[in-house]
Amino acid sequence: MDFNLDNMNFSDIIQVDSLNPTLIHNIFGLNLDWDWITSIRFDVNTHNHWVWGPISLRTSVAATVYDCLVSSDPSPWPGWNYIWKLCVLPRIKTFIWKLAHGKLPTSDYLYSLNIGPPTQCHFCGLVSESASHIIWNCYKIVPCWNSLCASFNLDFIILTGFSTSNWLTSRFTSKISDAFFKALIASIAWIIWKDRCNLIFKNWQPKYHTIYSRAWNYCRDFFKSIGKDIREFPYPSLTSSPWSSINLFTDASWSDSSVSCGLGFIAITNTGQILLAGSMKSNTDLPISAEIDAIHFALDQCISKNWSYNRILCDCPGISGLLKHFDSCVA
Ligand SMILES: [Zn+2]
Repeated sequence: MDFNLDNMNFSDIIQVDSLNPTLIHNIFGLNLDWDWITSIRFDVNTHNHWVWGPISLRTSVAATVYDCLVSSDPSPWPGWNYIWKLCVLPRIKTFIWKLAHGKLPTSDYLYSLNIGPPTQCHFCGLVSESASHIIWNCYKIVPCWNSLCASFNLDFIILTGFSTSNWLTSRFTSKISDAFFKALIASIAWIIWKDRCNLIFKNWQPKYHTIYSRAWNYCRDFFKSIGKDIREFPYPSLTSSPWSSINLFTDASWSDSSVSCGLGFIAITNTGQILLAGSMKSNTDLPISAEIDAIHFALDQCISKNWSYNRILCDCPGISGLLKHFDSCVA
């Protein structure tokens, strides 16, 4: 490479009316669609528009470009929007997004990129591993999907369309809400994927028969916390449990432009079990005030549950400085 990335500007990759193929080749390598790249032309005299503005506020470049690409599709698949509206954690939405795009790093996908050997399904060992097989069709996990249909009194025939992601755009009438049902499907698929990865990388044997109940409990806990500042986790009673103390981890983020802040905490037992997690928005004048508010928020929750805590862990050195050199005027 004969260029300096540190001093490179975006304009360097643009020649008069096209991209600089030599520079792009040096940066990204050969694994690109060169017919398409060399066909790109720029004309500064015709209509142009900003894909992302010079000031990005509460957004990311990736999100802005993604929105631009989606909006440029004359008839986009409506399922893309449904993915981001699923009532699940963001990591599960991202997982479903990759699954719908066919970009999960399964054996057949990595092999298609020439960066991995073809391998059999790690669950059954009978057919080559693909996302469609491992999430929807492997005989080891089909009982999970059958349990889903049985619980909701649905015909098993609906499962045949799940691999095409039609479950995102379909409307299910069930004894529980449509949103919960879709969250459950997404969670089952995600747990199957997690079990597959744990089998490969940690040699943990999958517990196929618990996948459905784990997904159900996960969704139940998530739905219970919607609209609340806190999320509780199942925990044993203080008198009968093997844990003896609680550590509180708190943190806060603060923005000087809006003086708004985000407060968060996690309550964890000395044995590493998460008991409670919380987050909320607030407003303070100073970042250290936000850190104090986060501690206050965590302590309020502990007091409401009659919990006594052992330690408070906070990454703000100003807090410990304030405690060591307590000044009632400052405090
Ligand atoms: Zn299989």
